[in-house]
Amino acid sequence: MERTLAIIKPDGVARNLVGTVIQRLEREAIHLAAIKMIRLTKVQAKGFYKVHEGKPFFDSVTDFMSSGPCVAMVLEGEDVIAHYRNIMGATDYKKAAEGTIRKEFATDIEKNIVHGSDSPETAAFEIGYFFSAMEVG
Ligand code: ATP
Ligand code: MG
Repeated sequence: MERTLAIIKPDGVARNLVGTVIQRLEREAIHLAAIKMIRLTKVQAKGFYKVHEGKPFFDSVTDFMSSGPCVAMVLEGEDVIAHYRNIMGATDYKKAAEGTIRKEFATDIEKNIVHGSDSPETAAFEIGYFFSAMEVG
């Protein structure tokens, strides 16, 4: 069993897509190990996306991620990091495959509805960034 950190970003929450995203996960037999709603501060958003510090979109993406509440989740399943990335679709929604969340709902490379960890190392860091050991179990 593998775990990954998923976020329904501020655009997804604002557009009432929380249930839609969770339904897709459940339909794919991905298990929810933890879930909570949280509004990141700008500083917390910068810490979360620190691997992107220095990139041209860093300031804008951290403004966006702190612009409203998110839903953070720990997902569990076999090969769930890659499985969930496949369900999300490519970062640029214009290049995302048919049937993916980003293809269907994203409106911008930044406003792309969902986040998912991209490796076991990133998942461990990101799960610990959002959830305490007691919350995940
Ligand atoms: P995420 O980490 O949010 O799941 P990702 O792993 O598909 O997305 P990353 O390369 O990690 O993509 O980029 C993090 C976020 O930064 C993207 O989701 C997007 O919002 C924003 N971003 C990435 N590349 C660009 C870009 N070229 N221009 C504007 N924003 C970008
Ligand atoms: Mg990423």
